[in-house]
Parts: sequence; structure tokens; C-alpha cells
Amino acid sequence: MAAARQRARAQRRREVLTEEIARIGRVLPGSITDRFTRCGNPACRCRAQPPELHGPYPTWTRKVDKTVTRTLTPKESERYRTWSDNNRRLRDLLTELEAHFLHVIEDAEGWGEK
Ligand SMILES: [Zn+2]
Repeated sequence: MAAARQRARAQRRREVLTEEIARIGRVLPGSITDRFTRCGNPACRCRAQPPELHGPYPTWTRKVDKTVTRTLTPKESERYRTWSDNNRRLRDLLTELEAHFLHVIEDAEGWGEK
């Protein structure tokens, strides 16, 4: 029966999603970007035309009450990027899980029939 097969497939997908969520490890909020800056020296190449800016400086930015920025060492940058990728992956998995349960609950609650 097609509906039963579809339910079994959805159930397996849900198990895969929840298992991956359980294994995701550290998740870091905010974003990691490479920042380029100007310094205070008016004779510096960063003030020339065209300017050669300083950097890249890997930077972690997140919103608490305001935006908080922290410049990272290369080693921190490597670690933080991994955790930040985990966070993005977790959000994707949750979005898919929400969509999954929306279908399940829609069927169970008979929303389509009203
Ligand atoms: Zn400069």
C-alpha cells in the first residue's frame, strides 16, 4: 500500500534526522567572516588610492543585545568555523524536521478535512 510505504519512508527519514541532530556536537551562534580594516596612519597603504586594506582578520560576530565582534587567531578561526558549520547544519535539520512533523500532524489532526 502506497500510503504505508510513504509513512515508513518518512519514519526512516525522521530517524536519520534525529540521529544526526544527536551527533552534531558543538554549535556556535553568529557568523565567522574575514574582516579587512584601515589603520590610523594617514601615510599607510590602507589609505592609498586604491587602498590596500589590512587583513584578512578572521572575525566572529554575534548578536547579544548589540553586535559583539571578536578577532580570532588562525587556530580559533579553524575551530570556530567547524562549530559554526555545525550550527548551520543543525538549523537545516530542524527546518526539515519541522516540515516533516507538519505533514504528520496535519494528517493526524485531519486539518485537510475541515
Ligand atoms: Zn594601514
